Amino acid sequence: MKKVVIGKEEWCSLPMLGLPAIKARIDSGAKTSSLHAFNLHTFEEDGHKYVHFDIHPVQDNRKIVQSCRGLVVDQRNVKSSSGEKEKRLVIRTPITLGGETWDIEITLTNRDTMGYRMLIGREAMAGRALIDPDASFCLGAISEEDVKKQYKVKEDKNNGLNILLLASNPELYSNRRLIEAGEQRGHNMRFVNISQCYMNISAVNPEVHYRGGELLEDVDAIIPRIKPVMTFYGCAITRQFASIGAYCLNGSVAITRSRDKLRSLQELSNKKIPMPTTGFANSPVDTKEIIRMVKGAPLVVKLLEGTQGRGVVLAETNKAAESVINAFKSLNANILVQEFIKEAQGEDIRCFVVDGKVVGSIQRKAAAGEFRANLHLGGTASAVKITAEERRIAINATKAMGLVVAGVDIIRSKDGPKVLEINSSPGLEGIEDVTGKDIAGLMIQAIEKNVVPAKPKAKKKSA
Ligand code: ADP
Repeated sequence: MKKVVIGKEEWCSLPMLGLPAIKARIDSGAKTSSLHAFNLHTFEEDGHKYVHFDIHPVQDNRKIVQSCRGLVVDQRNVKSSSGEKEKRLVIRTPITLGGETWDIEITLTNRDTMGYRMLIGREAMAGRALIDPDASFCLGAISEEDVKKQYKVKEDKNNGLNILLLASNPELYSNRRLIEAGEQRGHNMRFVNISQCYMNISAVNPEVHYRGGELLEDVDAIIPRIKPVMTFYGCAITRQFASIGAYCLNGSVAITRSRDKLRSLQELSNKKIPMPTTGFANSPVDTKEIIRMVKGAPLVVKLLEGTQGRGVVLAETNKAAESVINAFKSLNANILVQEFIKEAQGEDIRCFVVDGKVVGSIQRKAAAGEFRANLHLGGTASAVKITAEERRIAINATKAMGLVVAGVDIIRSKDGPKVLEINSSPGLEGIEDVTGKDIAGLMIQAIEKNVVPAKPKAKKKSA
């Protein structure tokens, strides 16, 4: 390129990646160029390393998805503009800008926070152009319509399902991914804050209203992602959506059931699903008997309302166990007492079940000096191959709770796998990160399978 003047944003193309038009930000403050990519999978071919990835090439449009393949030349630690360090794959590919084409290196990042799909750093532009930071599109502008034409997009809003994500925080990884996965599959996704819904309960015409009074209608399906403190209200709203004909990816009865640890274990026991020996009693006089029942210390005491490992205590001696149990009881806390599976050595397995299948599993290992493997407590996740028995137990435990989507925590004991807990809103970050699978997409597929949009609409209810 002869030295031309280019602006702070320009249209370019990455022909070998199959990207005919990308609006890029030219940033001489950044050394390397980067591209927003997700679903990254590396593989080898003819002695070279390649990466497969998906990209939303058009800014602010998550429905257009392009699958690309690039030659990996490096892996680098890159500091983002927000100061976070991230290990990124680097690919080399030709760029076309202002009629000239040359090879550049690009790092791949799946942070969806940058508005521009691509950032061109000074390395790529070295000696090729003068950057005028006050100008835009000096090399020519392309209209949104033309961009869509280039990606051969036919947008038809009415083909998709109307899916509501019922949750509290739109910024959470899991919630962002579910919206993204639904939009990628052509659905009309909407985030709805549970606490801002209200309802009109009537036999003739039940309704759900939102914020300033908007009526939420024509809802094909909802994805309830209810945080523990919102269980009561969130389940009531879920039930209301079921009564207006929406399919619920986890019904309210099943969510309520799974939120009660004691009740969950009783359901599992009814279905002969293995779990650690567990005791529960209400009065302090039974403390010694309860300890005996779970074969003495070391044992684990769990607060029934606890989550993310908080409220799970290890008592190493019978004396300590007695004190802990009596202390909890004096606070009128509901607890259960469980045999300690020492041989698990701080490890457990999270199986992610969607619609009767284990779609991914990870092993979680507790931080040093800790027996609880929860990721929120510093546990680390890694890939794991589960046995046929573990798979069967995870599926049966989910079925026993009546859940469609569940995270089933299994601990490996010397007597075989045992279920610790079943979570009705399992997080997606750890599992997608470790397995590289599009778990959010599989959840959307489960909705597609269970909702039959027809006129008049015939839908399955699950509440
Ligand atoms: P929470 O719902 O708060 O996550 P869990 O019952 O899943 O509570 O326990 C948290 C963690 O503590 C588990 O992931 C597991 O690593 C460990 N743990 C729980 N129960 C036992 C047990 N009976 N024996 C050994 N470790 C246990």
